[in-house]
Amino acid sequence: MAEKIIAYRFDHLDQTLSQLDQENCAIIAGGTDVMVLHKSRRGVPPKIPKPIVFIDHLSELKRVYHNGKDLHIGACCTYSELLEEPLIPVALKKAIKTIAAPAIRNRGTLGGNICNASPAGDTLPLLYVYNAKLLLRSVSGERIIAISDFIQGVRRVQRDPNEILAEIILPNVLEEGAHVVFEKVGNRNADAIAKVGFAGYIRINGAVIDDVRFAFGAVGPTMVRSLDIEKKLLGKTIPLADADIAQVVAAFDKIIKPIDDQRSTAVYRKTVALNLLRYFFSTKQYQPN
Ligand SMILES: Cc1cc2nc3c(=O)[nH]c(=O)nc-3n(C[C@H](O)[C@H](O)[C@H](O)COP(=O)(O)OP(=O)(O)OC[C@H]3O[C@@H](n4cnc5c(N)ncnc54)[C@H](O)[C@@H]3O)c2cc1C
Repeated sequence: MAEKIIAYRFDHLDQTLSQLDQENCAIIAGGTDVMVLHKSRRGVPPKIPKPIVFIDHLSELKRVYHNGKDLHIGACCTYSELLEEPLIPVALKKAIKTIAAPAIRNRGTLGGNICNASPAGDTLPLLYVYNAKLLLRSVSGERIIAISDFIQGVRRVQRDPNEILAEIILPNVLEEGAHVVFEKVGNRNADAIAKVGFAGYIRINGAVIDDVRFAFGAVGPTMVRSLDIEKKLLGKTIPLADADIAQVVAAFDKIIKPIDDQRSTAVYRKTVALNLLRYFFSTKQYQPN
């Protein structure tokens, strides 16, 4: 007989936060990572070693809205809901379309992808180049933290047990002159975990680079991003000189340190990551008219 577990499903966020403050519970949004993580073998129900609290239905965690130039995305919006949402940037929709198959997209949430902190989480490279901030709520109030500080390692995040990730904030998402690119390389175009993920952001003024950001996924324990490398490109004009591109590629070559695993090899991952970077620089839409 299946073991009984305690499960909570409150109507409102504040009741959920009170429960989390009183008892150490496992949070379940879509459950698409949690259920796999706690599965032992086929046909055996997953064993979750704590009481569980469902949050996927909470309307407070499902709003998408602009606050000035910032876009706020409720952590419990499912991928399918985000694909239908006009405010979601095209690049994020492109990333979402590569995730799993529709059944998982109907359950899986953006907040779950972040809190699961897998190096292969497909939305993460993009959220890093958007400089995403996370709004966490608890009975004590709320705090905002940069995604790069929140994610500390493979499945390690800086979240107190009584906190819920409520919103993902994409600052200045409407900024003029900004272009965002997402690329994922897997065994096929969707329904495959990434071998390499890449996101690039560039903001140009005339032909001058005002801002540029890159993040690589699945090539290290967390997303690989380097503010130092990015800084060196500011003020340069596009199209970049071959020597500048070679310098950036060489700098990332030093800090991208992938591993061999069941999905790919370190050599393949490194080669593809650097090729995606070169491809980003060659993308015609960034060239001045
Ligand atoms: C068949 C299959 C295919 C998949 N394919 C892909 C893929 O191609 N790309 C990809 O990136 N992922 C993939 N995944 C992984 C998964 O679907 C995503 O990571 C998804 O975004 C997880 O969201 P969720 O709501 O289901 O998270 P859950 O499983 O509910 O939670 C994941 C973790 O985050 C915590 N959590 C969730 N929401 C919150 C919150 N708001 N506040 C605090 N903690 C929270 C949970 O406690 C748990 O630790 C796949 C999974 C499966 C089963």
